Amino acid sequence: MSLDARSRARLKGVHPRLAAVTERAAEITPVGFIVTEGLRTRARQAALVKAGASRTLNSRHLTGHAIDVAAVVDGKVRWDWPLYPRIADAFRRAAAEQGTALIWGGDWPRLRDGPHFELDRKAFP
Ligand SMILES: [Zn+2]
Repeated sequence: MSLDARSRARLKGVHPRLAAVTERAAEITPVGFIVTEGLRTRARQAALVKAGASRTLNSRHLTGHAIDVAAVVDGKVRWDWPLYPRIADAFRRAAAEQGTALIWGGDWPRLRDGPHFELDRKAFP
């Protein structure tokens, strides 16, 4: 598998190391995915916070250090939780191959965010 054109377009403005991990993850993932969002404007982030869809105005999406994905099964977007750790595993393997410090939102103890991946602030401030 490889990333579709729309997903690739949504990687515009995303940090090249995160884009590279995403490309590689798409090749090795057992569960297909699309990129739903990369770089986000301040206005959009503020709207998401207002709507309760995000808790922070300091999102990694604002700087191109985060992406969101959606699982795709048989051509349909799926939000079933069990699909996301399998996608995350592909991202983890891709990040390890490339020596990129990556964080999965699904590992957060509070406000678990399965579709979200970001570069580790410690390595990529
Ligand atoms: Zn996100």
